[in-house]
Amino acid sequence: MSFIDKQARSLLLAEIVTGLATTFRYMFKTKATINYPYEKGPLSPRFRGEHVLRRYPNGEERCIACKLCEAACPALAITIEAEPREDGSRRTTRYDIDMTKCIYCGFCQEACPVDAIVEGPNFEFATETREELFYDKEKLLANGDRWEQEIAQNLVAEAPYR
Ligand code: SF4
Ligand code: SF4
Repeated sequence: MSFIDKQARSLLLAEIVTGLATTFRYMFKTKATINYPYEKGPLSPRFRGEHVLRRYPNGEERCIACKLCEAACPALAITIEAEPREDGSRRTTRYDIDMTKCIYCGFCQEACPVDAIVEGPNFEFATETREELFYDKEKLLANGDRWEQEIAQNLVAEAPYR
């Protein structure tokens, strides 16, 4: 840029005018940012977030203690203990997930024949201590009760692709 051009741009405040024009152009457009955590963006039904253990509508646990999820987990994050109930059905007595090991691969969910263990839509489960990320059966079932509606909708939406 020549000396005269530079001086002319300075005198006419060209940079400021260009900057203001850009500001006004974006002022009336839809904002790309959202006011998180009060506003949240859309999530894919395939999103793999915090784990849950689901129940049937009658309240019975879905999990039949087959241990396929434990076998499929590449991070060895799942620990299951099981024994038969009085009615002969097989249920877990212990279902732990060490969330500090989990890599959110979704293999446990894919391995489960009864859609009992599912990675739900919750991504807001940061903790202050490591111990809080050692999930037990009670915690996982409570997660399932909390997120059942969203998870059921997501599974229906994904059913044609499974
Ligand atoms: S998401 Fe993957 S790493 Fe995490 S518990 Fe399931 S199988 Fe294991
Ligand atoms: S969560 Fe599913 S795969 Fe894992 S033990 Fe229970 S029924 Fe089997």
